[in-house]
Order: sequence, then C-alpha cells, then structure tokens
Amino acid sequence: MDSERIQNLVRELIIEIGEDPTREGLRDTPERIAKMYREIFSGYDAPSELEVQFCEDSDVVVARDIQFYSMCEHHMMPFYGKISIAYSPNGRVFGISKLVRVVEKYAKRLQIQERLTKNVADELYSRGVRGVAVFADAEHLCMKMRGVRNHAKVTSAAYRGIFESREEKDTILSMIRRRASDPI
Ligand code: ZN
Repeated sequence: MDSERIQNLVRELIIEIGEDPTREGLRDTPERIAKMYREIFSGYDAPSELEVQFCEDSDVVVARDIQFYSMCEHHMMPFYGKISIAYSPNGRVFGISKLVRVVEKYAKRLQIQERLTKNVADELYSRGVRGVAVFADAEHLCMKMRGVRNHAKVTSAAYRGIFESREEKDTILSMIRRRASDPI
C-alpha cells in the first residue's frame, strides 16, 4: 500500500465532498486514513498457511462469537458482528487464536459477508478436518446509514464436509444457536 498515494486520493475525495482539506480538523485526515487502511486491510498480507495444533481428538469443537470487523466491498463501509465456527477435528484441533487469525485474515479486506463465511470455512476445511460449519451475524453500516435504512442483521452460513448433510446441518445449527439471543 502506497501511503503517499492514498493520502493524495483522500485529499481529492475531501475536496469533491465539498470540504477544505487544509482546515485544521482535516489536515491530518489523509494521513490517518492511510495509516488506518494499513491495519483494516491487513488481511491481504496474512500468511496463507495456518498452523495446526495437535491436541486430543473430539467429535465436534465449537468456537462461538468471534468478533470481527470488515469492510463491505460495495460501499467501503464497515460491517461487523460475530462468527461462530463448528468443526469435526479428525485428530487435529485448531487453537482458538488460530481461528481468530483466520477470521481476521479474511475480514480485514474488502469483503461481502457471504464470501467471508465461505473463505473461513474453506480455509479450515482445507486443513483436513472432517467437517466445518461457519455462521456469521453482522450489521452493515451501508444498510443502516443510507438506502433503505434496514437495521436487520444479516446471517450467513457455510457448511463443508460431514456438515453438508441436512441432518448434520440442523444438529450443528442448534448447537451454535443456543445463545442466539446475545446482542452483537
Ligand atoms: Zn454495502
């Protein structure tokens, strides 16, 4: 990411909005945004290989409510919420921090919620587990601040491996949804 170039583009944008980029409050804004973009779009630089931790086997592991923040690729506005992951380990158990890192790898880029859900499921499934189910609940500022002003939360799910069968989907969904009333 070229910080200088981003700063120039943001300055142009400020002018087009009808503002004065030289006034005090806006003077450092292009620099702040360039710095912030490095952080919120750091998913592109994340390592492709996920380390796997070997622990005791278990039938199903569920990691609930991993908080994420992402940027909608249609409007470049934030969408954010929680992702829950269930997987059947096949002798390999991922450390919780690894799951968080996979979520961040795909959240910290221009995204849509449905693809984020699939990206996380595909990355974990490619590590040789028997099955993965990923659920995301998110609020989208592009929907809340503009357009239809629809405040509804969006839910998406992706199933891989043994969780793709109808019966398994229902079981895993009820496990994850046990605390669905929790606020985002
Ligand atoms: Zn959007």
